[in-house]
Amino acid sequence: MEKTAKNPDVIDKLSYFSEDDLDSQDTLVNVYKGRVKLRFVALLEGHFQASYALQHAYYMRMTLIVLSLLFIGSGAFDYLLLDGEIQLVWLLRYGVGMPMLLAILSVSRTRYFMRYQQWVLSLAILSTVFAMSLMMAQLPKSEGQFYFTGLLIIQMAGLNILRLQFRYALLCSVLIPVCGFTVQFWFGVLNSEGIMIEMYFYTSVSALSLASNFLFERSARRDYIQKRLLTRKQDYLLEANEHLKVLVDIDGLTGIANRRHFDEELYEEWRRAKRTNGILAILMVDIDFFKAYNDCYGHQQGDNCLKVVAKVINQFGKRPGDLVARYGGEEFVVILSGVTASDARKIGKQICKSVLAKKIKHEKSSVANYVTVSVGVASADPFHLNSSDELVQLADKSLYRAKSQGRNQVVLCID
Ligand code: GH3
Ligand code: MG
Ligand code: MG
Repeated sequence: MEKTAKNPDVIDKLSYFSEDDLDSQDTLVNVYKGRVKLRFVALLEGHFQASYALQHAYYMRMTLIVLSLLFIGSGAFDYLLLDGEIQLVWLLRYGVGMPMLLAILSVSRTRYFMRYQQWVLSLAILSTVFAMSLMMAQLPKSEGQFYFTGLLIIQMAGLNILRLQFRYALLCSVLIPVCGFTVQFWFGVLNSEGIMIEMYFYTSVSALSLASNFLFERSARRDYIQKRLLTRKQDYLLEANEHLKVLVDIDGLTGIANRRHFDEELYEEWRRAKRTNGILAILMVDIDFFKAYNDCYGHQQGDNCLKVVAKVINQFGKRPGDLVARYGGEEFVVILSGVTASDARKIGKQICKSVLAKKIKHEKSSVANYVTVSVGVASADPFHLNSSDELVQLADKSLYRAKSQGRNQVVLCID
């Protein structure tokens, strides 16, 4: 936002802003206060998924690498445990399981992985399970038990440590036994007694691991909403702060810069002129017989008159480095950077003419039938004066002369 105080409707903007923001903030607060379900409203859900994938991407990749290494390294146990069947088991481990895991790992940095992260991780788990089920089906029952333990580890640790969201974990928990039993059935090694025991372990381990997936996802969603709320509040405060900064520089009645802003700006322009060997002029503008105007037309009408005069003068300070401000009461000041004394006087005369041209009735004025202003001009290069205050004093002196010489005129004092 423009940091000049030329925007009188800025107060309105402040209230608009907070209303707009409340709308969307309400949604977040409701989601947060209500029971955090495992699905947000459409747009929010999309943002959550993207943020979840990004937040856990590195961690998941590392976990996948560790799990793949464990799977590949377990080949050593195949060697210790098995005699005759080792070729077939290694063929399954390194010919089926490992390539699948490596393929998944190789895409784990891509954009598609980010997009379908949960699907790909589920696929990684299921392909490992598939490979291990094939191995189990090739082995005698006693040795197959070791591999069954491996499946349980995948079921329990895999789903959890890979941060699978609940619905994907649920899908895996259903598909893991389906995959295991289908393979066993396919190879004709399914026995009804074994099914009962295996189902019992599967179900208990699944229930525990699903509970943990559920709790993890719920707290991840809660954190996400909390973070969003916090960011919104921060944005709101920053923007409100920007608006307040502008308000601090504005005169409440006329909407132009106030005295505070003038003091700051004059100091800056003074320093700049000093640095660049430039010149600086200021105009002090005072409404003539304004007390009489107030007495005659009332204070409210006086306020309206101040607004009109401020608007007229405001047209004369539009260049960079210029500023029009209300100095106090019925006095205004104009900073004109890089303007010579005679040009500043010309601008002063234009201001006098423009205010008179507004034809604001003033029957108590001794100089005209309408409201008029007197203008004191001061111009200097900063090497001739000690401070910007001296320039203001000079303009004040000029204004005093303009008043005493009859008002509705411009007087120039050079340092
Ligand atoms: P001169 O021609 O010498 O400048 O006389 P003047 O009456 O204009 O000057 P004076 O300083 O005697 O009076 C200024 C008046 O401006 C007095 C005060 O009531 C009025 N005034 C100051 N601030 C405001 C304001 O915010 N609103 C209104 N309506 N009047 C104001
Ligand atoms: Mg005055
Ligand atoms: Mg006056």
